Amino acid sequence: MTGPGTGGTQRAVVYAGPGRAEVGRVPLPGLEVRPGPGVLPRRCDHGVLVRTLATCVCGSDQHTLHHPGAAPGMILGHELTGVVTEVGRDVQRVRAGDVVSVPFNVACGRCPNCRAGLTGHCLETNPARPGATYGMGEGFGGWAGLQAEHALVPYADFNLYVLPDADQARERLLDVALLGDILPTGYHAAKGARVAPGSTVYVAGAGPVGLACAAACRLLGAAAVIVGDFNAERLEHARTVGFETVRLGGAPLPDLVAEILGVPYVDAGIDCVGASDQAVAGAAGGDGGPDGPRVPMAAALNDVVGVVRPGGALAIPGVYPAGAPGARPALGVWLGGVWSKAITVSAGATPARRYQDELASAVLRGGLAIGEVVNATRVPLDDAAAAYERFGAGACEKYVLVP
Ligand code: NAD
Ligand code: ZN
Ligand code: ZN
Repeated sequence: MTGPGTGGTQRAVVYAGPGRAEVGRVPLPGLEVRPGPGVLPRRCDHGVLVRTLATCVCGSDQHTLHHPGAAPGMILGHELTGVVTEVGRDVQRVRAGDVVSVPFNVACGRCPNCRAGLTGHCLETNPARPGATYGMGEGFGGWAGLQAEHALVPYADFNLYVLPDADQARERLLDVALLGDILPTGYHAAKGARVAPGSTVYVAGAGPVGLACAAACRLLGAAAVIVGDFNAERLEHARTVGFETVRLGGAPLPDLVAEILGVPYVDAGIDCVGASDQAVAGAAGGDGGPDGPRVPMAAALNDVVGVVRPGGALAIPGVYPAGAPGARPALGVWLGGVWSKAITVSAGATPARRYQDELASAVLRGGLAIGEVVNATRVPLDDAAAAYERFGAGACEKYVLVP
């Protein structure tokens, strides 16, 4: 393996300006980290280098493409499955040749939050705030993205999930590739919404996260899982993999739910959408018409609040902006609905590592065909820009980039 300074380069998907991703050449990673802007690299004896087998495109990458903090040329992506090629001096559990799934959170394994399993909120890996993610820029810790031929994974003994059988992992690549983010995210959300045997569930969003969440609800024994979206193609696919669906934009959601369940509410609701930009009446400088200014709003979340039964629970894996320091985006959350029904809420970045062992077992031993559920589709790394565009336009596919 060639490290930086030796002149080696590799292909990677990089940020190319607002809304644009492209394949470019970047330096090969070495076993060293750059702790922050203007700070010299230092050795990363606790890390490993991984050669990519599969690296997925996520809805969160779409946020990064439109994030003001994204820097041209930075490597995108945070969902990686690959083969370990080089092992740092202090790594003991992971070996060269292992096939590994990289959880999307960068976690130190040593801080109080990591020790409590809250790897999505590690206190050491991001100077800006608790929690770090690969490929999202300085606000998320400045860690290089994973949509590249090779990547550095720090704190490898703690972070990496080693697949039990490398050959089997390669054969089931389109399932295994989803263990780094969306399957743990869907599962964490289902648990956060207290989904259990017999539960009825409404999942907002038929994107990859929504579908993975619906699969997780089924795994946890839900009696009925209803997926809602505006996207007809995604809903059609959701039906073919066995979920109930509701097409939004017409009748009120509780009425649509009542047509399926006989009652206008569910035990658990899960927002797999996050903030959506909407034209809002009274927004600064506009009248809220279709061409007026658009602000992030909690439309999907409010649907969820409206349909969860009193005493029920909801989870919010979909992303909502915290805003710049001191700012508090209004988002129009229907808090009165949450309060009056005494709904339990859970939210935030998933601690992906916590669930990988049990979910890998469900996939590899239990036959959970998660790749089929989310319509995982192999795409050559060189075609990443087109995959980003198709995904952004709502294609019913989870793109798995393969170098
Ligand atoms: P996606 O954009 O492909 O899917 C979102 C879907 O929601 C789309 O199909 C869209 O048509 C639909 N939608 C829009 N408004 C809706 C509404 N009001 N009700 C129902 N559906 C609506 O994205 P994805 O990859 O599935 O990711 C979904 C969200 O999860 C994103 O915000 C992503 O950043 C987030 N995410 C969070 C975590 C975490 O750790 N919490 C991990 C991965 C992804
Ligand atoms: Zn993701
Ligand atoms: Zn930590």
